[in-house]
Amino acid sequence: SVSDKRFNRVLLKLSGEAFGGGKIGIDPDVVNGIAHQVAEAIAEGVEVAIVVGGGNFFRGAELSQRGMDRARADYIGMLGTVMNCLALQDFCEKLGIETRVQSAITMGQVAEPYIPRKAIRHLEKGRVVIFGAGAGMPYFSTDTVSAQRALEIGADAVLMSKSGVDGVYSADPRTNPDAKKYDEISFDDALRMGLKVVDAAAFALCMENKLPMIVFGMDGEGNIARVLRGEKIGTLVHA
Ligand code: UDP
Repeated sequence: SVSDKRFNRVLLKLSGEAFGGGKIGIDPDVVNGIAHQVAEAIAEGVEVAIVVGGGNFFRGAELSQRGMDRARADYIGMLGTVMNCLALQDFCEKLGIETRVQSAITMGQVAEPYIPRKAIRHLEKGRVVIFGAGAGMPYFSTDTVSAQRALEIGADAVLMSKSGVDGVYSADPRTNPDAKKYDEISFDDALRMGLKVVDAAAFALCMENKLPMIVFGMDGEGNIARVLRGEKIGTLVHA
């Protein structure tokens, strides 16, 4: 119910990898499932802003390892995130949720430009705001942008979804069977231990500004709805 919800306004980071359902491109069933989960939170009165990744299309670092100019490859990566935004917008609107896409790279035919105060007005009106094109700057990641957008729109927390891992571990659980999952960890400890599940820049921004982050797995059934309604899943990273 509205009275016991934990968050008023959140920034949800959705991993691009999940949008493709393990392949390159968009899996409409996956995106539709995400939209349904967001709809549950909106119905409970939570204000939801979303940053969408683009790992299902292109990652700049990977393209540059194969000979492309890094900055240009990063722009390709950013454009990929916008396609994910439009897919998510489509499924949200089919469920009757009003949404606005705001892009950090101007493309007036498909998205509003990123205007923070306008984004806040949309949220106040119960619209979902979907941020695309990352920061609009090469050498950044959508994790870092999530922390920045959360700070700028005054979100209560960053809800950082990951695919293939369900929280912060003492080591990479995909390669180290002894890795232990934390229920809670400080930003300071995560940084000192060099834990890479989230970018160091995102951890550092949240730490400096005392913004809590929840790292959780997107793979579990209904996990997005659970984290949006304040259920304690994944790992709470705190200042
Ligand atoms: N990117 C960028 N600047 C940004 C955000 C993203 O250059 O502010 C590029 C970068 O090349 C990145 C790609 O967009 O690899 C896709 O984003 P990301 O890897 O963060 O997506 P995710 O892993 O969350 O799916």
